[in-house]
Amino acid sequence: MLTSSSHTGRKHTAESDVAIIGAGTAGLAAACHLTAAGLTVTVLEAAPRIGGRMVTDQLDGYELDHGAGLLPPDCAELAGLPGPALDTALALRPFAPGALLRAENRYLPVGDLRLGSGRYARGKPRGLPRQRPVTGVESVHAPTNWLRSRSPRGTLGVAGAARALSGRPGHGRSRTAMSDALDLARLRAGLARLAHTSPERLSARGELSAATALATRGLPARTLTTLVRPLLVALLSDPALTTSSRVADLTLRDFLRSGLCLPAGGAATLPRLLAAGLPEGTVRTSVRARSIATHSVSTADHGTFGCRAVLLATGAHRAAELLPGLRVPEHHPVTVLHHAAPEPPMTAPALLVDADQKGPVTHTWVTTAVDPSRALPGRTLVTSVVLGTQAAAPSASLDDAARGQLAELYGASTRRWELLALHHDTRAVPAMPAPHDARRPVRVLGGLYVCGDHRETSGSRGALASARRASSAILDDFGLRPAARDEMPLRAVA
Ligand SMILES: Cc1cc2nc3c(=O)[nH]c(=O)nc-3n(C[C@H](O)[C@H](O)[C@H](O)COP(=O)(O)OP(=O)(O)OC[C@H]3O[C@@H](n4cnc5c(N)ncnc54)[C@H](O)[C@@H]3O)c2cc1C
Repeated sequence: MLTSSSHTGRKHTAESDVAIIGAGTAGLAAACHLTAAGLTVTVLEAAPRIGGRMVTDQLDGYELDHGAGLLPPDCAELAGLPGPALDTALALRPFAPGALLRAENRYLPVGDLRLGSGRYARGKPRGLPRQRPVTGVESVHAPTNWLRSRSPRGTLGVAGAARALSGRPGHGRSRTAMSDALDLARLRAGLARLAHTSPERLSARGELSAATALATRGLPARTLTTLVRPLLVALLSDPALTTSSRVADLTLRDFLRSGLCLPAGGAATLPRLLAAGLPEGTVRTSVRARSIATHSVSTADHGTFGCRAVLLATGAHRAAELLPGLRVPEHHPVTVLHHAAPEPPMTAPALLVDADQKGPVTHTWVTTAVDPSRALPGRTLVTSVVLGTQAAAPSASLDDAARGQLAELYGASTRRWELLALHHDTRAVPAMPAPHDARRPVRVLGGLYVCGDHRETSGSRGALASARRASSAILDDFGLRPAARDEMPLRAVA
């Protein structure tokens, strides 16, 4: 039980069943699992605010995420938290279509497979960037085969595929247009096959780097380079595609089946809702853990916290400082730019991927088109992501280069756009090269546990899943069982 909660800097001892270090997504989700099972928990957070890498700043009525904040639509279910609080309170705003690939002046919507449920489930999206005609494209939806060398004959038929993809009769079209249409038909077939392959089968495949594996999937080199690769780069935050091919397959599969979302109000909504489900006083901000043992945490200015178990829920580097020997993966750097635009350059709530890679931005979206609550009415917020070495470029030159590219991408002048914020994080997402163990041990020894995205897969999905595993391990060791979903009272989640 917690016996003291002051932030005065006075030395004191606190007692709880579990001390969690880090109030990011993983630490807070773990705290929810453990308190729901009846344990007392203290979450110690070094920063003055919760959220870790999922934070949102308010500026002039704009909600500006430090990260990209792209979430899977099933993240509340993935969290597996007891009680309906997160499921009901977390409003997710979907991208539609899932992604809009811009290649060679055309826009190819790659939607999700919930046929009929999305606004752009079929046909051409509305509200595309102006000045760019939409030609020869159609959503990639048809349920057939994943990237395998296979003729579309027998599904649509060659001429039928070409006609379907062009939206025009087959005669009189150029050889290039026909070949484009065929490539697209094969892409559609390949992606749909992937979407319908079970995760178990994908996980049983040989593991290579995603870049190497792509080349073996039987798609024309041009389709790979211009369409699949840029999409994967954006989804994995990995410009060289060194990520494990299994992770890449599973990520692309999830994306094709369910798409991506933004949490309404900003990325910080997720940790805020998790924290709101905890008993008052559970989270202690501005308390930095300095060293840990199985039954205590020593802090820089707040004395020692006694407990029955310690759960380390920091990022990988901080975790290894507190627990020497813990594996620290490489990380991919990410820079996020937020621009205020005088008017929306695109009204479609689409994730626009620059397949031509004509500048530093890999993907961009009109945030206020996806989630209008991110700005005051009538204002437009555009968010763009830069990956790899370019992400570390000086802010002014990055902004310059990005503006030029965004003008081209959206077909709109960016001269009057105002850079509201630029966030660079060299340790944004842990790299997941092959072989990748997506279930790294979370129990170090009895009384000492670790969770976070570096124990599972990069991103909030991995952070939530690892928190669930670590909490189960703690409850097992305590001889308790996790609370059932209907055992947790609904708390106010303001
Ligand atoms: C620029 C950027 C873009 C991203 N884009 C996406 C995306 O689009 N989709 C997605 O799913 N994910 C994305 N991510 C990754 C996602 O934010 C993380 O995977 C997730 O937030 C990890 O949560 P976590 O709880 O494991 O770690 P963290 O969020 O890092 O939380 C760890 C916490 O531990 C605290 N801490 C550290 N040391 C101590 C100490 N000694 N004592 C006490 N507390 C300590 C830290 O202050 C922090 O609050 C992005 C991240 C960044 C930075």
